[in-house]
Amino acid sequence: MIDLEPKPEPKRRPAKRRRPEIYICSTCNREQPFCWTCPCGFMICSDCMEENFWGMTCNGITWTCPDCGAIRGFGNQ
Ligand SMILES: [Zn+2]
Ligand SMILES: [Zn+2]
Repeated sequence: MIDLEPKPEPKRRPAKRRRPEIYICSTCNREQPFCWTCPCGFMICSDCMEENFWGMTCNGITWTCPDCGAIRGFGNQ
């Protein structure tokens, strides 16, 4: 028996990414290559963060989510 039918290639499921490919800043509503994010869904881009820096952070090390009040760290998340 010769199987002439080409075998269908197994469909590969795209690996789930932990981070979204695009960010929409919650403050300026623009698409950004990077935003700081909060688990509640809030995102802020570096421009808005800079503008609101001293309203978002009191020490430059962590920032406070204005939506839920979570303390979030700068740097790698
Ligand atoms: Zn922004
Ligand atoms: Zn939040």
